[in-house]
Amino acid sequence: MTTRPKPTLNLRSLILIFVLLSAVATLVNSFWVMFKIQKQELIEGALDVNKNYAARIARSVEQVLDADLDKLKYGAAGIGKAFGDKSALTREAKRLFEQDASFNSVLVAGADGTIIASAPENLQLNGRTLQHKEPLTLRTPKISNAFRSLSGNLVVFISQPTFSTGGEYLGLIGGTIRLEQSNTLQSLMDTNVRKDGAHFYLVDAARQVLYHSDPAQIGSVRGTDLIASASLREASGTLQAKDEHDVEMLAGFARVPSSGWGVISQQPLENIQAVLRRTMTKVAQGIAPLALFGIVLIWWLGARISAPLSRLADCAKRLDMPDSYARISAVPARYFESWQIRRALLLGATLLQEKIGKLNHQAHTDALTGLANRRAMQDVLALWQETGKAFAVVSVDIDHFKRVNDTFGHGVGDQTLRAIAELMQQNSRANDLPCRVGGEEFVLLLPGSSLHTAADVAERLRASIEAASIETVGHITVSLGVAVWCPNGESISAVLERADQLLYQAKQSGRNCVVVEHSSD
Ligand code: GH3
Ligand code: MG
Ligand code: MG
Repeated sequence: MTTRPKPTLNLRSLILIFVLLSAVATLVNSFWVMFKIQKQELIEGALDVNKNYAARIARSVEQVLDADLDKLKYGAAGIGKAFGDKSALTREAKRLFEQDASFNSVLVAGADGTIIASAPENLQLNGRTLQHKEPLTLRTPKISNAFRSLSGNLVVFISQPTFSTGGEYLGLIGGTIRLEQSNTLQSLMDTNVRKDGAHFYLVDAARQVLYHSDPAQIGSVRGTDLIASASLREASGTLQAKDEHDVEMLAGFARVPSSGWGVISQQPLENIQAVLRRTMTKVAQGIAPLALFGIVLIWWLGARISAPLSRLADCAKRLDMPDSYARISAVPARYFESWQIRRALLLGATLLQEKIGKLNHQAHTDALTGLANRRAMQDVLALWQETGKAFAVVSVDIDHFKRVNDTFGHGVGDQTLRAIAELMQQNSRANDLPCRVGGEEFVLLLPGSSLHTAADVAERLRASIEAASIETVGHITVSLGVAVWCPNGESISAVLERADQLLYQAKQSGRNCVVVEHSSD
């Protein structure tokens, strides 16, 4: 039979490992799902907010530009009637310049692009030529892209064509907005600055920055910026992309219809991740005590569940003990499996006890002395070996027994054997097993005895036999050999043989003595 190694893991550890693994797996899983959903929602939310924001600003910019075009339209209608009167033109330019803060300068140019009148005067623009000629060729209301003006400022130019009453094209009247100075667009934007880390900017159709919350960016060109490109291409939308500094951005954008400009509102993805990290840390802090409590609770329950099984396993180890029935009965069986195992163990213990009882007292009894015979001894030893129960063997042989037979006859010899058997029983405890294994050879088995105890028992037996007066025969003596078997794989016959050899040594040493094997410890 192959022996399998004894498992070292017990049920309680298994339950604990299982609980910890499943708790950690569940936590990690829900945390991950929560993280993903939260991240997605934050990103979608941010994109949406930026889109709405860009749309709102685009509408406001549109309104400002429409109002500017209207003001210039009114002026253009007025000067069309008196285009030859330079002072009237100058008055109109001045009026428009001073009317409000819409324009940083106002000028009137003839059809050839020569500036006829302008305000403020200190710019000294009169007589110079417009470098932005497109409105002259188009002869339509026009909002330009950004460009460097005659006075070196970065400007956009808003203009209306002017016609004579007869419909002849006379030139234009236009206002500049200086992008690097305070202007109406800038004040409009500045009132919309956001506090959540988002920023926005305005680009013209050539992707030049017209407004930026960082003024240093004004005038720069967003040549390859995907978001700026998208804002010019589509009426409105959202985009997650890298900006010109290679920073991943969540952007919303909207186009300003009248000028073809784009408004971009954006924030770094990192901002969202920082919010996400804070949220998830709070979630983890919230979950941790509850998770810990859950693990402790399940661990405690696991211990409660495994406790009866551990106790039953312990009882099963010592099923042959006389008190095993009571010990098994005392184990509480709160659930079906433990109840079933307990029942099986109780049955096993009863059968085993009965079997041991039978072996001891009935089938295997020596007829002459009433002691267990060799067969009974071997059965019991086999059982002890199987259950790993340590025991000691005391081998006994009557000294010069032949003489008893020769002197007093066989009948007296038998009577002497019975007397010795009785003395052996008197010197045994309930669990000990005295056996007659041959003619005048006996063995006393001492379960659970150490070598030391067995030696004491043997010596007591020797002394009591020596002291006893046997009818007809008088005093006789015995020689004894003492050995112990340990559950380390030694065979039964080996230990019996050792005990016999020790007995032989006792005979050699003059009889009526005990020889004990050398202790291994
Ligand atoms: P030693 O001290 O060396 O043991 O001497 P011994 O005379 O006892 O020698 P041994 O142990 O060899 O003796 C065995 C004798 O026991 C042989 C036989 O006459 C006797 N005998 C064996 N079985 C019985 C039995 O059932 N009844 C009787 N009366 N005598 C027996
Ligand atoms: Mg003998
Ligand atoms: Mg003998």
